[in-house]
Amino acid sequence: MATQEQLNKLFEVANEAKKRAYCKYSNFRVGAALLCEDGTIISGCNVENGSYGLTICAERTAYTKAISEGHTKFKTIVVTTDVEDRFITPCGACRQFGIEFGNFDVYCVKPDLKSFFKSTTSDLLPGSFTPADLDAPRTNN
Ligand SMILES: [Zn+2]
Repeated sequence: MATQEQLNKLFEVANEAKKRAYCKYSNFRVGAALLCEDGTIISGCNVENGSYGLTICAERTAYTKAISEGHTKFKTIVVTTDVEDRFITPCGACRQFGIEFGNFDVYCVKPDLKSFFKSTTSDLLPGSFTPADLDAPRTNN
């Protein structure tokens, strides 16, 4: 769980990352900030591609940056967009990507950086497939 001070910083970092979004096709800017267990904050933005299917979301950008820098345990991820009238939550792919690394807080923050919806990786993906499922007994039939 993040402290209030960490949350404030995460909101700012996500908002700054949003400004770096490469979203020339959708024009839908998304920023993310990921709080690692050791207190490190990793930012992410969406990165689109002319071959649309290659587009990567802000959350997955943050996760992959963190993993590549040696962080595998997370406390909180914050996501923000330019949408003012509702909370934008992570897409299905990002929910699955996040639950891979356990249950932690997810904040979806409006552009005012004040209003937010708080959830967790587990609550956002009930009945999820997790690494533990790979260890379940299996039949060879
Ligand atoms: Zn996504």
